Amino acid sequence: MKKKQKEVNEARVAELVRSLLVELGEDPDRDGLVKTPMRVAKSLAFLTRGYRQTPRGVLNGAVFDAGANHMIVLRHIEVYSMCEHHMLPFFGSCAVGYIAKNKVLGVSKIARIVDCFSRRLQIQERLTEQVAEAIQDAAGAEGVGVVFKCRHLCMMMRGVEKQNSEMVTSAMLGSFRTDEKVRQEFLSLIQ
Ligand code: ZN
Repeated sequence: MKKKQKEVNEARVAELVRSLLVELGEDPDRDGLVKTPMRVAKSLAFLTRGYRQTPRGVLNGAVFDAGANHMIVLRHIEVYSMCEHHMLPFFGSCAVGYIAKNKVLGVSKIARIVDCFSRRLQIQERLTEQVAEAIQDAAGAEGVGVVFKCRHLCMMMRGVEKQNSEMVTSAMLGSFRTDEKVRQEFLSLIQ
C-alpha cells in the first residue's frame, strides 16, 4: 500500500493553473477567471483525495463478526475517477460482491473503499483490481468479485470521439475465480 501523502499545497497548484491559463491563450486577470486558479486547485485536491486515504483508514474498524457464509453484493455504486493519461474524468458504476468468512464489512465502507481508489489518477483496469484486493484484505473473504462499467471523457471528447462506448472491467478473486457457479451467481445478481 502506498504511503499516505501530505496535504496538497493549494496555493502552489493555483499558481501552476494560472500559468496554464496563460499558456492556453487566456487572460487570467479577466473577471471570470480571477478566482479560477484557486477553485481548480481546491477541486483537484478533492478529486485526488484518495492519495491521502488508505483502505484501513476509511474502514475505521467497521469489520463485524458474523456467522454469515453467503454472498453479499453492493451494486450501482457511483464512480467518478480521472484517467492518468489525459487527466480527464471517467465515470459510471461498479458492483462489489464477496463471500464472507465470519467477517462482514459495514456496507457504506465498501463504497468508501471504491472512492479511496477512484479519487486518484487511474486506469480502470488497475482501479478494479485494487478495489478487489482491498475488499479481500479487509474482509478475509473466501472470494471477491468486482465489475466496473465506465465511460471515458478522453474517448468521448477527443481521440476517437466515441460517445456511447462503455468500458467493462472485472476482477475475480478466490472462489469467484475458481468456481464457475459462484461467478455466475454474482454476475446474475448484478444484472
Ligand atoms: Zn484517457
